[in-house]
Amino acid sequence: MSCYEHSETKMEPRPPGVIPIELKNGARVKAADIAPQGVYRPNYNVLTPNMRSPEYVQMSTAAALTLGIMSGRMYRCECTRCLNLLLTYPEGCRANCAYCGLARHREAERDYADRNFIRVDWPAVPLDMTIDIVAKDGAKSPFHRMCISMITHPRSDADAVTVLKKWTERINPAAIPVSILSNPTTMARDDVKRLHELGADIFTVALDAATPEIFDRTRGKGVQSPHSWKKYWEILMDARDIFGPQKFGAHIIVGMGETEHDVLTLVQRLVDLGGHSHMFCFFPEKGSLMDHLPATPRGQWRRVQLARYLIDYRGVRVEQMKFDGEGRIADFGLPQGELEGIVSEGVAFRTSGCAGKFRDDVSACDRPYGDSPPSNIASFPFAPNKGDLRKIRRQLQS
Ligand code: SF4
Repeated sequence: MSCYEHSETKMEPRPPGVIPIELKNGARVKAADIAPQGVYRPNYNVLTPNMRSPEYVQMSTAAALTLGIMSGRMYRCECTRCLNLLLTYPEGCRANCAYCGLARHREAERDYADRNFIRVDWPAVPLDMTIDIVAKDGAKSPFHRMCISMITHPRSDADAVTVLKKWTERINPAAIPVSILSNPTTMARDDVKRLHELGADIFTVALDAATPEIFDRTRGKGVQSPHSWKKYWEILMDARDIFGPQKFGAHIIVGMGETEHDVLTLVQRLVDLGGHSHMFCFFPEKGSLMDHLPATPRGQWRRVQLARYLIDYRGVRVEQMKFDGEGRIADFGLPQGELEGIVSEGVAFRTSGCAGKFRDDVSACDRPYGDSPPSNIASFPFAPNKGDLRKIRRQLQS
């Protein structure tokens, strides 16, 4: 498939359906009001218990395996280095982002705690149990970072604060730093300040879309969702002022209809502001409003991954790169030998996100198989080996 088949017009979400009133806002879960007992593992065939933050949080399957809460193995990975704690409520996220498995339009189909998100299940776990395990592990903890992931919910701001306070009471944030994956729609500058004062290390804003038009179409008015590009940028700029250089960033999903030039212009803008970009390869999440659309062609993804790495960590500027008439990278702006050395190192193709303890350009947040199946890895949660690099080189040319 060529990257041209991935044109803007084709990456159109389907319209959200009408939700019967008796299924709105987690009504079924709240009416049954079943008390949770310990860890809840997503199971589509049962009514979920009535769990809410801050008592409960959800975590990725990889984090639950690493904590020893679930048993199993991950393909070529021993553990994840980032403990993502996702706030949870029976009402779920009140936004409707077209690519997201947690979106509101799924109310009729799945209880919130049963929804897949970035391709995996998210078990719900008591916060105290989670903190106890990490505190007990002390310096031996496999985690390099913890991330509080907010969703669009009226309780989200207050509960992010409570989770952060409870965590830092038991775990030194210098030992395991905390990131905030924010929800700008419900936040004000003072909320950003508060999280910084309470010891959060990095603040990120999930722009997700690379342009205002794609933002509006996939997570604004286009899908009856409350977010606005303007508000997201306001909070991003607040984070820049309050958290400072290298301590703020933006999530971007590659392959939702933007050109390679569009996304790299945004990456450059973030670097010029003093921040970082954290990239995701578009994957048609099951049950989402974009689940009928193609995953990002690997050629497009690899080129953007490499160029983003050069801009973020190797001082290359987007203006040095050359693009063809379709906005596709034709030249990375580095001599071939130098570029080849960077490709061979493989770091450019690893998952991007907030840094861990290995090195500045290696993310703690490795999200194993969050944006692709293991059979065709988009973001490598580990260092790619020789065979992987051969495949990456072929993909870069496709
Ligand atoms: S705000 Fe975040 S969690 Fe909610 S639907 Fe959008 S992407 Fe998903």
